[in-house]
Amino acid sequence: MLGSTVWGCRTTWLVLSFVAATCLLFQSPPLLPGLFLSYSSFVGDLAASLAGALSPYAALSQPALAFALGTTFLLEATFWSCNAVLGLIYYFDPALLKPYKLHEDKFPPAALIRSCLADVVIGHAVVRPPLLYLTHSLFLRFGMSASPSEIPPLATIYLQLFASILVDDTLFYWSHRMLHHPAIYKHIHKQHHTFKYTIGIATEYCHPVEDFFSNILSTTAGPLLMGSHESVLWLYLNLKLWQSIDAHSGYNFPFPVSPFSVLRSMDCAPAHDYHHSHNAGNFGGFFIFWDWVCGTDVKYSAHLEKNRDKDAYWNVVGGGAGEGGAKTT
Ligand SMILES: [Zn+2]
Ligand SMILES: [Zn+2]
Repeated sequence: MLGSTVWGCRTTWLVLSFVAATCLLFQSPPLLPGLFLSYSSFVGDLAASLAGALSPYAALSQPALAFALGTTFLLEATFWSCNAVLGLIYYFDPALLKPYKLHEDKFPPAALIRSCLADVVIGHAVVRPPLLYLTHSLFLRFGMSASPSEIPPLATIYLQLFASILVDDTLFYWSHRMLHHPAIYKHIHKQHHTFKYTIGIATEYCHPVEDFFSNILSTTAGPLLMGSHESVLWLYLNLKLWQSIDAHSGYNFPFPVSPFSVLRSMDCAPAHDYHHSHNAGNFGGFFIFWDWVCGTDVKYSAHLEKNRDKDAYWNVVGGGAGEGGAKTT
């Protein structure tokens, strides 16, 4: 009994150490591409070996299987490590982070969390790997390479990441806005909005039609059209996933805990949190550029002005009624 308890503790700490190491890797914005490319190169080799071993003819290369395995592994690592850290934050509710909390004492019901977890596990285990396997040839057709010798220089990587964000934000804004059309909303997008107050895992709780047209297509369009290297595609997919989890975390973490708070105009977490809690405008992803152009951020801007003394948004960007510093209650 005691042994199993100790083993339980050891396993727990082993898992937590892995989670912490993975998070550190992903939480280093200036070093991110370099570190990630080494990491994804390692994952690529591992996935290729595994794909060969799984093949009935091990001598035959299995690039599609390696692509599906490598992508799945990295996305799982990002999803579960980020959400494990958030889970600890939700559980312990540290005083240090209270100023950045977007809602005091608001948490989704347990039944909704269970339903979301079941949905996520099924999607990750049953849908995603075969979909990746089947779409590998499409990425190859657009010029994707997996060869370590063809990894582009850092300047190209940054450029492709930035271009991917712009393409993603445009497609996501318009498809997301379309999902809010009354004729479509109740059939498809309503599921995602069951979370009035979000937590990290809520990012993937949506109807399959929404997942494909608004999430998968928007995220992959940039790297696909540019024929980005497999590692750059992996980097972008994981960056987007992290951004999306951050936007649903229920916290407005300051930079560098959240690299998405680096520019005031990014506004990812508070803007998307308002989208869930008020269901009024704010259809954007990384940036609120399209919301600003189309005027779909008007209610949000008025809300922020009205709540200068209490909204966590002001504790990150400064300028709130309480001297712009962190709220302490
Ligand atoms: Zn929505
Ligand atoms: Zn959402």
